[in-house]
Amino acid sequence: MRAYIPSYRLFSPATLSEALGILAQDNSFWRPFAGGTDLMVLLEAGKLPHKNYLNIWNLPELRGIEVTDAYVSLGALTTYTEIQSHEILRAEFPMLCQAAKETGGIAIQNRGTLGGNIVNASPAADSPPALLAYDAELELVSKDGDRQIPYFKFHSGYKQMDMRPDELLRAIRLPRAPNQLTHYYRKVGTRKAQAISKVCFAAVGLMTDGKIESVRIALGSIAPIPLRCVQTENALRHQTIDPEIVVAAKTALADEISPIHDLRSTRDYRLRVSLNLLEDFINELSAR
Ligand SMILES: Cc1cc2nc3c(=O)[nH]c(=O)nc-3n(C[C@H](O)[C@H](O)[C@H](O)COP(=O)(O)OP(=O)(O)OC[C@H]3O[C@@H](n4cnc5c(N)ncnc54)[C@H](O)[C@@H]3O)c2cc1C
Repeated sequence: MRAYIPSYRLFSPATLSEALGILAQDNSFWRPFAGGTDLMVLLEAGKLPHKNYLNIWNLPELRGIEVTDAYVSLGALTTYTEIQSHEILRAEFPMLCQAAKETGGIAIQNRGTLGGNIVNASPAADSPPALLAYDAELELVSKDGDRQIPYFKFHSGYKQMDMRPDELLRAIRLPRAPNQLTHYYRKVGTRKAQAISKVCFAAVGLMTDGKIESVRIALGSIAPIPLRCVQTENALRHQTIDPEIVVAAKTALADEISPIHDLRSTRDYRLRVSLNLLEDFINELSAR
């Protein structure tokens, strides 16, 4: 049943500093409301227990995509539509653009934000595996100042993350990388569009002189958090690709992940698909 709307409050601060001041005064009272595409689903279902929201949608400090020599920095309010149409993101971070293209439908892509996807912390979200594979950093801001953390350290358990209630996610920073990288992103769902992932696989790799010089692999929907698969990366790094390495990497991945069993899919299916995608990624890397 839909929630009783008059029992909710939505306040729109005019500036970031006003928003941070309000969060600092009583940080358990207010929660951020960005695009609202996750929050409104809960509201409609009568399952949104928290009542007081700060509308951050109009804060310019949380918007915009900045490009420097070293980084591309996306304001937390960057929408999926903005991601897909940004030329440098399309050229250098194609997996993020693909994740954006495969997230919801056009209405969700126009309104849903990258920051909301991260902080909502669903293990089945589609952008986090790409962000982990790109070794993203997060910029968190509070009245006391700002701090940066590597994204792979952000999620600590189901819906648990390294963010205080008086903080906002301000930006997501992507280190720019050499353009010979292989980018490999697959979202596996029940159907091609408007599906929640059963498995989401993102990986980048770089071959030098016939060996894997660098590799980063991340998966969604296979653990309580979006997971960077470090053991699997270690099994592959500095190796020549041959059948034994493929087996070693698949063994490492099977050890490293513990796929969930839920109404969308079984544990066995998720494991099998993850291993097949890993092999497909390694084959693609080797073809480069
Ligand atoms: C029909 C439909 C289809 C969808 N399909 C997909 C899909 O295919 N893949 C996918 O990954 N997701 C999907 N989603 C989920 C959703 O659209 C995304 O997670 C979206 O990115 C959330 O962003 P938002 O700005 O709307 O977040 P909101 O709903 O505004 O907020 C979500 C959470 O993040 C917090 N928050 C938001 N921004 C900040 C910030 N800057 N700082 C601190 N906290 C913040 C809020 O307090 C809230 O807890 C779908 C949703 C719907 C309704």
